[in-house]
Amino acid sequence: MTPAFLDESKALACVHCGLCLSSCPTYLETGNENDSPRGRIYLMRAIQAGKLGVDAEPVKHVDLCLGCRACETACPSGVQYGTLLEETRDHIEKHHKRSVFQTVLRRWIIERVFPFPWRTSVALLPVRVLRFLRLDGLLPGFARSMLELVPQRLAKRKLEAKRLAKGEAKGDVGFIEGCVMQVMFGETNESSAELLQRDGWNVVTPREQGCCGALYAHGGQLEKARECARKNIAAFEGTPLEAIIINAAGCGSTLVEYGELLKDDPAWADRAKAFSAKVKDLVSWLDEGGVKPTGDCSRVTYHDACHLCHAQGISTEPRRLVQARAGGEFVELTESDLCCGSAGSYNLTEPEMAERLQTRKVQNIIDSGAEVVVTTNPGCLLQIQSGLKKAGADHVRAVHIADYLKDEKG
Ligand code: SF4
Ligand code: SF4
Repeated sequence: MTPAFLDESKALACVHCGLCLSSCPTYLETGNENDSPRGRIYLMRAIQAGKLGVDAEPVKHVDLCLGCRACETACPSGVQYGTLLEETRDHIEKHHKRSVFQTVLRRWIIERVFPFPWRTSVALLPVRVLRFLRLDGLLPGFARSMLELVPQRLAKRKLEAKRLAKGEAKGDVGFIEGCVMQVMFGETNESSAELLQRDGWNVVTPREQGCCGALYAHGGQLEKARECARKNIAAFEGTPLEAIIINAAGCGSTLVEYGELLKDDPAWADRAKAFSAKVKDLVSWLDEGGVKPTGDCSRVTYHDACHLCHAQGISTEPRRLVQARAGGEFVELTESDLCCGSAGSYNLTEPEMAERLQTRKVQNIIDSGAEVVVTTNPGCLLQIQSGLKKAGADHVRAVHIADYLKDEKG
């Protein structure tokens, strides 16, 4: 008998209407029902019922899911697909034997390097050396594609424990630095803090914080994700804060779900709910505060990070901010909310589908005629920057929204 790993009532909420199919990137690419949300829910339920084993064939279709949650936005029945997926992946990782390559990639690189900023910095040293010696072009296919995702310029930076508001302070907000953000996009964290300071907030960045746990939650390691959640809750709850700000959509979608993640832990359930209630994405916090940026004159478009628009339902606020700064030069992007193929570590575990979606996204950006594409997640930035480079579209810049908004004064 297969142990119950899914909340069956959540799976039964799917009435098989198929309205989610046309918003699912993998279904759009393969046309295979098993690569659609509806098909995957069938597979999950069949594994739970013991009708299917945790074998290569069903696992392949679950692995190919981006976890982008576009199906949740489209679903009229409110199916919580993200939770079903995380529970299924947790079950798969406990009962499925992966190839040596996938085991090393998932267990030793993704889970033991990326969540630790100093390990990521060390792992990036050879990349710098290869680039300096101009030997990166000699690497074999997979290694070269991994290397192409690393930005040319790495900006490692840690924020001070507290930065004071510019002018009269409205209060204190907490700030989550993010593992990848502080190693590769330290300047974007600086821009985010600067925007908050300009808006009248003291920015508190507790030293004790750590990885948000998103990589673990999305990769089928729920217990490790819970450990991350407990560490972050303890790090922030000692200071009275108006909000806890995050500028990376992928991390934000996990932080707002700590309440769900720890709901069965009596010692932490209420603390987790209180923490999640305070988490705000940078854009919704600035938009709520009435920030009105001005001053750009480039043609600009906006790519919706899946974990902001689908997982957190935030799509109007970033547009309002970008449009305010761009004036009449804002253009909507075709398929703006279709995943770019980054999806956390998906572009490493499923490089072929990731590249198909990257090409599709980059073509839409080029067709928009934009000179700047703005987004809100480090993974999307890396994926789009590398896709633009591959396509030879050097005239288009991909930038994080914090950097785009901060530069309003030059
Ligand atoms: S999460 Fe994304 S890729 Fe996965 S089934 Fe839903 S829409 Fe498709
Ligand atoms: S997930 Fe929602 S939209 Fe998709 S088939 Fe099920 S009920 Fe319909």
